[in-house]
Amino acid sequence: MKWIEKELNQLKEKNLYRSLRTLSSPQGKEITINGRRLINFSSNDYLGLAKEFCQECGKWGSGSGASRLVCGNFEIHEKLENKLAELKKTESALLFPSGYMANVGVISTLAGEGDVVFSDELNHASIIDGCRLSKAKVTVYPHKDVDTLEYLLSKERKNYRRSLIVTDSVFSMDGDVAPLDKLFKLKNEYDSILIVDDAHATGVVGWSSFELFSLTPDETTVIIGTCGKALGTLGAFVCGSTLLKEYLINKCRTFIYTTALPPSIVCQTLKNLKEVPERMKKLQSNIEFFRNLTGINSQSAIFPLIVKDEKSALILSHHLYENGFFVPAIRPPTVKKSRLRISITSEHTKEEMEQLIKAIKL
Ligand code: PMP
Repeated sequence: MKWIEKELNQLKEKNLYRSLRTLSSPQGKEITINGRRLINFSSNDYLGLAKEFCQECGKWGSGSGASRLVCGNFEIHEKLENKLAELKKTESALLFPSGYMANVGVISTLAGEGDVVFSDELNHASIIDGCRLSKAKVTVYPHKDVDTLEYLLSKERKNYRRSLIVTDSVFSMDGDVAPLDKLFKLKNEYDSILIVDDAHATGVVGWSSFELFSLTPDETTVIIGTCGKALGTLGAFVCGSTLLKEYLINKCRTFIYTTALPPSIVCQTLKNLKEVPERMKKLQSNIEFFRNLTGINSQSAIFPLIVKDEKSALILSHHLYENGFFVPAIRPPTVKKSRLRISITSEHTKEEMEQLIKAIKL
């Protein structure tokens, strides 16, 4: 096993080694790491809901005991699915244990040999893995470049049975938004299915990224949301037609062969949904404040601060840590260019955001 040590040492030499940090507090705007209290500018808990856990959740016990298709399908799963479908304006929704599993499962179920998937170059790792698992032809198009995508569709679409266009709505490391209106048009023109990963949009830019473009989902749109970010808990949901839901229940391996989400968690997700509208307003006002403060033009809660290289990212992150802020360095292979990924929540005060910027300016 010497090769493992060798590989890890190589990562260290290139400033690409990763290690875990240990929290001894609940998730939130303030966290404790190694006994140090820090203002957290790194989490996806955009609405500060992750620390909630209600009494009623305990009524369900902690576990679900089986997969949904065996005896792990609780009435509360269906209640949450109905609510999420209503919020995303789709006919149906189907819960998954995580966003990772939803993306991998949906893409590899809807596309197979003889199909083609068009995927934005900055899509999340779970989309990339779903594409790989599908055995379809995968065509990666330059980031948000709809003209190139159209050219590729016109060239390749006719050679394949089914065609999928897959994109993050809010990109997880840059915080920018995909041109969903144009992608929606292309999926209609080229007889394709549009799959949109709404992980960082749900509860941030609205209930759904489609609201930003006044789009209404139709039977060839699939929107995937996660509960582990703004909704504060765990899990994911695939929103689309009732026919799609029926198909996934029958065919999707990451739905069929895994333990259902604990009903206790589902119960808390339902509770958290009630808090979203009020907190989302606060978050949007904080995003606007931070955008004006920094000049970083992000429409979402994610503000990338691109730095020279991996080492600079580590140094800046450490400097902020010493000054009471938690903003980890994000480095390759997660991103091409190293950066600090600053995320704003509804809970941050203006003073905290100003202090962070002051500390960054060294
Ligand atoms: N999609 C995107 C865009 C993400 O950022 C993430 C989480 N980092 C996921 C999917 C995976 O979601 P989950 O954490 O629920 O597995």
